[in-house]
Amino acid sequence: MLYRAGRTSTYPDDPVESGIRFHFLGGAGEVGNVGCVIEDVSGTKVLMDYGLAPTKPPKYPSEAPMIDHAIITHSHIDHIGMAPWLVGHHGTTLHGSRLTSSLSEIMWRDTYKVSSIEGYPLAWDKRDLDAAIGAWQEHDMGEQFSIGQWDVSFHVAGHIPGAVMSEIDAKGRKILWTGDMDTRTSPNVTGATPVQCDILCLEGTYGGKYHPDRKEEEDRFVKRVLDVVSRGGVAVVPAFASGRGQDVIRILHKAAPQLEVHYDGMGTRVTQVWMDCPELIHEPKALKKAWHWCRRVRSKSDRKKALDADVIVTTSGMLDGGPAIWYINRLRHDPANAILLTGYQAEGSGGRMLLDERKLPIWGKKTPVELEVTQFSLSNHAGHKELVDFAKACSPEHVIIFHADKGPAMALAADLESEMKVHIPENGETIVIQ
Ligand SMILES: [Zn+2]
Repeated sequence: MLYRAGRTSTYPDDPVESGIRFHFLGGAGEVGNVGCVIEDVSGTKVLMDYGLAPTKPPKYPSEAPMIDHAIITHSHIDHIGMAPWLVGHHGTTLHGSRLTSSLSEIMWRDTYKVSSIEGYPLAWDKRDLDAAIGAWQEHDMGEQFSIGQWDVSFHVAGHIPGAVMSEIDAKGRKILWTGDMDTRTSPNVTGATPVQCDILCLEGTYGGKYHPDRKEEEDRFVKRVLDVVSRGGVAVVPAFASGRGQDVIRILHKAAPQLEVHYDGMGTRVTQVWMDCPELIHEPKALKKAWHWCRRVRSKSDRKKALDADVIVTTSGMLDGGPAIWYINRLRHDPANAILLTGYQAEGSGGRMLLDERKLPIWGKKTPVELEVTQFSLSNHAGHKELVDFAKACSPEHVIIFHADKGPAMALAADLESEMKVHIPENGETIVIQ
């Protein structure tokens, strides 16, 4: 058993005496694995996200205290992965956008499946998952709802469709929780805009890092694809099922509609759900067109046909399993082919090994892959400049930086501390703001 009620939680037992208390169960000083309890003197409290880090073995935030309400910012597993535990054990209501709620079942079932395949038991089971599906309260952007004595409303966070920033009016004190965010408009979602607040809880994944110009990077990507195709090769583009894959399809559809592009992976079901929520998609008609333009792989024979395509967009984005491995194994002997990585490759991931050693774990065996590997930065997180500009425009008194390793958090602090009080919490730490 991973959690034992009342034994493993770092959450303090004592009531809040004054101000607003922030306690990070996870996601402080690290990327992902998020869970933070916000509570005030009235006893009103909310849990912001409850995810897990899909490492091997997975990593979980500390046990959540008894809690009636959680806000789930978006459907990525490092923000939503432990919500079934919460509902199964505490009967918590989950608040989120219509799209996050609609995608949750796909995400949880996939997590459940992966954990059984990899042999790492989850802290929740299928009964908890079923309960969690029924625990959603969906909210539109801008709609006001209450949690205890607080008023809450959602704003577009950029990042992926359906991702929200939460504006919490805690009896006159305004908190803005960004969740994962981007102020830049990407193919499928419009960028976040600043919200005036007193306390800003800011994700800092890319603190200290500057993104290249988005348009130029997209052009560089398309050019590389065309080069590979013109020398007779297939470009394999590993991409996340929820966000990046759909971005890549839209970029290619717009810039090079003559290409034959195949899509394979869990993103097929995800995109179907996206298209049912057009109000949360940037130019939804263009998504629909691009999606019907690409060829979706549905069977083993489709997969074989895809080997003759120009481009294969497929999961997983960091080459930790998924159809991408099958394709690369089949395509790795022809040097005309190439692997085009679309983003950051985490330490310990297949993609990282490919970049560092030109090898990839294929069916459990470290295998040389001597293809062209080119990396692009099509990130859906704000970079340093966007984060700093956004934080300043929100003009808070306090900023709490989370979802960031120490270095990136310090880089943001250096550029923000002249205008606001900066807090960089650690997991298990409590911050009280008066
Ligand atoms: Zn995310």
